[in-house]
Amino acid sequence: MTAETALAEHRPAHSDLLIDGQEVAARTGESFQRFSPAHDVPVGSYARGDATDVADAVAAARKAFDNGPWPRRSGQERARVLHRTSELIRCERKDLARLEALESGKPITQALEEVDSAADLWEYGATLARHSYGEAHNHLGTDVLAMVVNEPVGVVSIITPWNFPLLIVSQKLPFALAVGCTAVVKPSELTPGTTARLGRLLLEAGIDPGVVNVVTGKGGVGAAMSAHPDTDMVSFTGSTAVGRMVAAAAGSQLKRVELELGGKNPQIICEDADLDAALDAVVFGVYFNAGECCNSGSRVLVEASIADEFQRALVERARRVPVGDPLDPNTKIGAITSDEQLNTIERYVADGLQSGSSLLLGGDRRPSERGCFYEPTIFAGVSPDMSIANEEIFGPVLSVLTFKGLDEAIRTANSTMYGLSAGIWTSNINSALTAAQRLQAGTIWVNRWMDGYPELPFGGYKSSGEGRELGSQAIGSFTQTKTIQLQVGPRTTRWVLESGN
Ligand code: NDP
Repeated sequence: MTAETALAEHRPAHSDLLIDGQEVAARTGESFQRFSPAHDVPVGSYARGDATDVADAVAAARKAFDNGPWPRRSGQERARVLHRTSELIRCERKDLARLEALESGKPITQALEEVDSAADLWEYGATLARHSYGEAHNHLGTDVLAMVVNEPVGVVSIITPWNFPLLIVSQKLPFALAVGCTAVVKPSELTPGTTARLGRLLLEAGIDPGVVNVVTGKGGVGAAMSAHPDTDMVSFTGSTAVGRMVAAAAGSQLKRVELELGGKNPQIICEDADLDAALDAVVFGVYFNAGECCNSGSRVLVEASIADEFQRALVERARRVPVGDPLDPNTKIGAITSDEQLNTIERYVADGLQSGSSLLLGGDRRPSERGCFYEPTIFAGVSPDMSIANEEIFGPVLSVLTFKGLDEAIRTANSTMYGLSAGIWTSNINSALTAAQRLQAGTIWVNRWMDGYPELPFGGYKSSGEGRELGSQAIGSFTQTKTIQLQVGPRTTRWVLESGN
């Protein structure tokens, strides 16, 4: 299908809020439109919720948690709903992917992969729903038997970003639901479409009313969700700056908080690496999703002995990455999601130019009749103190630094406030193991980059986050532990003796 046909097939629709199983307009009656950042055409319109709608959504989620059937259902029943949701996502694969590509500007091929991964996460959540169990202790003495059980934490506020809208909500919501939590979900105002649709698919899959509530809007909705006293937990993915605000609001009420934040993820390229494979992974790592990716490999640290040759090959390869219409199946870098993000990228590129590094490629908007596009960009001669070396740009901008010896590489890799992921390319097992042990990041890739699996935990060290998503413990983020002790036989000891002494 051509890009033009795919665009013509899209019918912009309106979505209301989803509260207590009902589609309702915002209390103010207001709505907002989302335009495609690649085509400047309307993609959909959404109810513009505010703090009052958040209060309604929290009340519905609270009622569903405190008195509704969902937390009391068996794991099997919850698993069935999650599994059906996964099937419905797969049935709507093409429409969801097109909506995601239109709202975010990402290439359709990447949007399709994202929808598939999201469906897989719902399936994984279904599996875990039947594996939530605690411990029994029968070695504490003959008069006691104890159990440690997991209970759902309660009402969870879930605030998600615009870079992988369906994927990120699917890294949180299925696992919260698997253990019996209820939720209020707020997608980014830039990409609310697939999350709004997901809410309806959940109802179709048989979720009880009020268990999942979706509030679309912008400005003040997220803050109201983190501060509301009737929620028990906030799960947020986005910038470190907003993550700190979420943590402060949640912390003041001692709510649980789970944060997936920014990254400035280094790939270390040693001279003994398979350089062709490393080259491809570096180009993929930084230009996938136009670099609007918390796991973006936006820093590459190259061993000085091979730096000139590697940089030349890098520029050559990056030049060949197709930039263009997200709906064209050949495109690998689509549109930048918003004008604000484009401005951020331009600000960092200007900083890079001023700081004395050399621009090897790009450094400008890609001219086009419509939409926001940015050239694949590479800076070399970057030093660790420059902003383009240690701040998250969230765009197709690569900073190349050099090192002599593994110690220096690891020191530089660890020198930012972030610690989401890091990688090393080498054929030396000792270098690989040393790096894996000493790099301060939640995920380390050795001779590969950016693969993710539901079975593997994901999250950040340092200012990249708090807590972990996914993995066998994915549901643990959404449970709290209760210890139950049972007396076996009569209680034979007395604290106060009958004789009074
Ligand atoms: P933000 O990190 O600023 O997050 C915006 C979202 O947070 C909105 O949904 C907003 O809701 C909500 N929010 C704002 N204030 C609060 C608060 N006090 N408490 C709770 N929620 C709040 O993302 P931006 O879109 O502004 O992107 C800025 C930068 O963030 C990017 O350039 C990139 O560096 C980084 N980013 C990182 C991502 C990641 O995956 N780690 C994803 C996206 C962005 P409301 O509109 O209602 O205020």
